[in-house]
Amino acid sequence: MIRFEGVTKRYPGADRPAVAGLDLTVAEGTTCALIGPSGCGKSTTLRMVNRLVEPDGGRVLVGGRDVAETDPTSLRRGIGYVLQGVGLFPHRSVGQNVATVPGLLGWKRAAIAERVDAMLDLVGLDPTRYRDRRPAELSGGQRQRVGVARALAADPAILLMDEPFGAVDPVARDRLQEEIGAILRSLRKTVILVTHDLGEAMRMGDTVALMRDGCLAQAGPPERLLAAP
Ligand code: ADP
Ligand code: ADP
Repeated sequence: MIRFEGVTKRYPGADRPAVAGLDLTVAEGTTCALIGPSGCGKSTTLRMVNRLVEPDGGRVLVGGRDVAETDPTSLRRGIGYVLQGVGLFPHRSVGQNVATVPGLLGWKRAAIAERVDAMLDLVGLDPTRYRDRRPAELSGGQRQRVGVARALAADPAILLMDEPFGAVDPVARDRLQEEIGAILRSLRKTVILVTHDLGEAMRMGDTVALMRDGCLAQAGPPERLLAAP
């Protein structure tokens, strides 16, 4: 479970807080889609979970523990992170990219190789065809699939996704969202997804949390949000 309790963040020199007294709970095994206009505080909220940003008020709890009391390196090992444009290592093969975190964790070579293939399979990329390619040889959608495979490789309980499909062409995007959403549901990951795309939030979120000016304007299951005035 991820829980924000009265969380506030003001960047140095900013005239108003990026996040202002946010209360939000993401239940274990569910996906929360954070949606709202550009600049409303979505990415800042997400980055406080893995301590890329430190709050200056309130608490962020992961599995009941205040992240401020958890060493950032060990915290991040349990949290996958997927960004727009992914940030795959361009000079490393797809397989080497997916192997990153298991490698850092010191897994045995055979276990890593097996895991890489299983992860590529999971995201719909044939390992024998794609394992040895470079990211530049893939489409935008395929690169995002690799990003998800890399983020899930060490089986983190939590996945943070920041506009993960922004660089994918609109035709491929809907299908990718459906597929990745189904994978995350079947694995029972606890997910926060940042997006400004209502369709994506509706497709992927078990709950949709609408932010405005650093606060939660509304939150609930997608059906209820649609029904709201
Ligand atoms: P992303 O990669 O998710 O777009 P960024 O950190 O690049 O996130 O930027 C998010 C928003 O924060 C953008 O509106 C950007 O202009 C603003 N921003 C990022 N860094 C700074 C900074 N150092 N000072 C002021 N605004 C910033
Ligand atoms: P969103 O993800 O909803 O677009 P952000 O969390 O990126 O919003 O940004 C919230 C506010 O904080 C914006 O006004 C943005 O410009 C500002 N901001 C974001 N990152 C930084 C930063 N590193 N330094 C200063 N200001 C930032």
